[in-house]
Amino acid sequence: MSALRRYLPAFHDVLGARVLVVGAGAVGTRKIETLLAGGARVTVVAKEFSRSVEDRAARGDLTVHRGEFHSGQMEGAELVFAATPDRALNRRVSAEARRRRIPVNVADSPEECTFLLPAVIRGDEFTVAISTGGRHPGAAKAVREFIEEHRAKISVRLERGRRRKRIAAEPGKVYIVGAGPGDPDLLTVRALGLLRSADAVIHDYLVPREILSLAPAKAVRISFARRGRTAGHGAILKQNAIHEAMVRLAREGKSVVRLKSGDPLVFGRGGEEAEHLSREGIPFEIVPGITAAMGCAAAAAIPLTHRERSSSVTFVAGHETEEKGGSAVDWSLLPKDGTLAIYMGVGRVAAIAGELGGAGFPPETPFAIVENGSRVQQRILRGTLSDLPRIALGSGVRSPAILFVGRTAALLPYENTEETSDEPVAQSV
Ligand code: SAH
Repeated sequence: MSALRRYLPAFHDVLGARVLVVGAGAVGTRKIETLLAGGARVTVVAKEFSRSVEDRAARGDLTVHRGEFHSGQMEGAELVFAATPDRALNRRVSAEARRRRIPVNVADSPEECTFLLPAVIRGDEFTVAISTGGRHPGAAKAVREFIEEHRAKISVRLERGRRRKRIAAEPGKVYIVGAGPGDPDLLTVRALGLLRSADAVIHDYLVPREILSLAPAKAVRISFARRGRTAGHGAILKQNAIHEAMVRLAREGKSVVRLKSGDPLVFGRGGEEAEHLSREGIPFEIVPGITAAMGCAAAAAIPLTHRERSSSVTFVAGHETEEKGGSAVDWSLLPKDGTLAIYMGVGRVAAIAGELGGAGFPPETPFAIVENGSRVQQRILRGTLSDLPRIALGSGVRSPAILFVGRTAALLPYENTEETSDEPVAQSV
């Protein structure tokens, strides 16, 4: 009706407001209850009062004037409601309120209103208001019922849409963060937030530049790692240097992200670093990442477990140890009906094939090698154990690569592939 007309979606803003309600029948009573719930100071003018309004008056929750409405009762009111069955009276109340420039709502008469009350649904974290401009209250009610029925789905949408609270690395603290297998999209939200706010980043050689570039340009970047062997004396020196750097930077008051490929606690010495920080009294937090086995399994559509093909998955280190003068692993102890994910093994793949055979893994056991999993250079090679050395050496597989062994490593029927030959396949992806 007028440009003045506004919607009052809820009574949040009536706390302490002086509100005049004319009429105390069923409609008036509903309005009065809502206003009181919102903390309004309510005065009611009516000839007859509903039972609940009488009770409220007796308890002193509101003020009542019994008898005819007169304009002086509007003095000082900030909002007016007319809810009597007498249309002419409602019109008079509305006219007087408008003359005094007090917002007014008349029940069932949108033309007399300067504001409207939509149907309202309140959730824990949201309020939905529906209005048909006062013309079709029944339609608004139907929509409200629909929304009520879909409350749970609305909550899910809200959660999805809610802005994440800003993640910021704290000064003087070390975050031991998993960077995942290489694709920046596979960082966790927390890893990304910490990286973006870090003063210093100490990273492994396996963490690609795309991920390092997410840290602020002014952040200190340190890498102690060198390619090649990381066992023995050199590795101990390197690890000590990392420990010292973490502690020094944290004591300087920097926020430090210790960024490791995959997950920090899987073949990553994250445990040793946490122990060292704890000994030195430096606060730290470990942020998990997608380990290579998981990232590469997803890339090659290898189910690590499968109802018919594998009921266990074992992460094993394939490199040799100096102390043992050979494999670090007793292959005969590993389950032959599960999936093996062998890290750091491509350098001695022929030896591993022999060791697996010696441990009783049948030559027809499928394998898959994922090289540079989740990165642009990703390659996937497949075959059976009897062909493992030939295929791996023939295609020049290089680190980082992971070797899967087990029935799950075979091409699965659901995987979309063009190769259909019986020959072992080497695919580039
Ligand atoms: N903490 C890491 C593992 C570090 S050990 C993690 O949880 O993934 C390094 C080994 O991880 C490599 O020798 C290789 O076997 C494996 N690896 C890491 N990134 C890889 C990638 N993108 N593709 C294939 N293998 C990877």
